[in-house]
Amino acid sequence: MSYNKPLPRPDTTNGPFWAGAKQGKLMLQYCKACGDTRFPPSHICPKCLSSDQDWKEASGKGTLQSWIEMHRAYWDGYKGEIPYRVALIQLEEGPVVVSNIDNNSDNLRLGQPVTVVFDAVTDDVTIPKFTLA
Ligand SMILES: [Zn+2]
Repeated sequence: MSYNKPLPRPDTTNGPFWAGAKQGKLMLQYCKACGDTRFPPSHICPKCLSSDQDWKEASGKGTLQSWIEMHRAYWDGYKGEIPYRVALIQLEEGPVVVSNIDNNSDNLRLGQPVTVVFDAVTDDVTIPKFTLA
């Protein structure tokens, strides 16, 4: 069965993030001028306005900041998975990312350590998701 959920559209700004994910790396953009590490990426640093940006591999570790359980499938591709979880993950490097956390753990608590896992959803796209560490 083909993948029928929304897919990311890699472009010149976020391309390194998706290329890294395909290789099993969680990539974060940082500012070479002030060191600010951010997500999502941008052409210009929101802290110092420098356009001198680069990428580094993140540890893939973070903490669970919040989560919800989706009980309605807004896309047909999710019908077989509801309820599924959407979470805010505070990465060790600072940025907060929106992702999925697996449904295998029943005792989620705020601040729990999590780690990235990579879900190769198509031949071209791998999506970083999280699980309890
Ligand atoms: Zn900066």
